[in-house]
Amino acid sequence: MREQLERLKQEALRAIGEASGEDALQEVRVRFLGRKGELTALMKGLGALVPEERPAVGQLVNSVRDEIETGLEVAQQAARERATIERLQSERIDVTLPGRRLAIGTKHPITQVVEEVCDIFAGLGFSVAEGPEIEHDWYNFEALNFPPEHPARDMQDTFFVEDNLLLRTHTSPVQVRTMLKQKPPVRIIAPGTVYRCDSDATHSPMFHQIEGLMVDKGVTFGDLKGILTVFTNQLFGQKTGVRLRPSFFPFTEPSAEVDIACVICGGKGCRVCKNSGWLEILGAGMVDPEVYRHVNYDAEEISGFAFGMGIERIAMLKYGISDMRLLFENDVRFLRQF
Ligand SMILES: [Zn+2]
Repeated sequence: MREQLERLKQEALRAIGEASGEDALQEVRVRFLGRKGELTALMKGLGALVPEERPAVGQLVNSVRDEIETGLEVAQQAARERATIERLQSERIDVTLPGRRLAIGTKHPITQVVEEVCDIFAGLGFSVAEGPEIEHDWYNFEALNFPPEHPARDMQDTFFVEDNLLLRTHTSPVQVRTMLKQKPPVRIIAPGTVYRCDSDATHSPMFHQIEGLMVDKGVTFGDLKGILTVFTNQLFGQKTGVRLRPSFFPFTEPSAEVDIACVICGGKGCRVCKNSGWLEILGAGMVDPEVYRHVNYDAEEISGFAFGMGIERIAMLKYGISDMRLLFENDVRFLRQF
């Protein structure tokens, strides 16, 4: 029994010395000290000894177990330290290596133009107003004085969701919603997405508009021209010529198309301006009294103007883009240029 214990101790210490890591040491522990281990098996033989021998052999068993236990602990501590050192060495970071650059996106040219236009009008005292893209016929057409037989109210020009519910064809319903909520003075711009059944190089079924509305006591056509001159000068550069031509819109009277001197040729005439020297960029006019009637404003008391422009058209002129569809293809080679 004593010899067996001595042999077992030697064997265990040798196995500990040979174990290559924490896992291997755990196996050694199970093999010798485990519930079905070799030392436990020997201890079962204690009962076969004569009673006088039992205490001494029992003590020996305990001291053998303590020695194996200590050996295992020392070896495990060493194995843990070795593993830590190895990990630190393998994970060492070379801080002198150049970093990996993240590709940084840019704002879409449409977004850039919207923000720029909003900034200019913010400087003129206009605040931003918004409204729903799915709109009632009443806000989109009727309150804006579109007669029932107007071609814009046709299925061929407008996306109807159901009867009396449509994808707004302009941001003008925001003017109606604002005036219904608020008494004059009103000074807002309404940027947003609008929808029409139209698609070619200069038309898209979804596009962006910014409209403006100013209503107060004594607002005149001269104020309209002044505001738009300041705006176009800031957007396209100082001293951009501005020209107003008579036009017609259901919700303004009188109405005008607003042209700026061609930004490509400076007014001499080129392909973009079709040799006229002028580029049409927005529509405007004095708000029709019929619109005031729908929002319970007193046309005898107040007056005002409204204007609207297509953002894509402004972006195309500003950046020299020839096909509107490029703005919606999301080709990063195109978008990176802005
Ligand atoms: Zn031109």
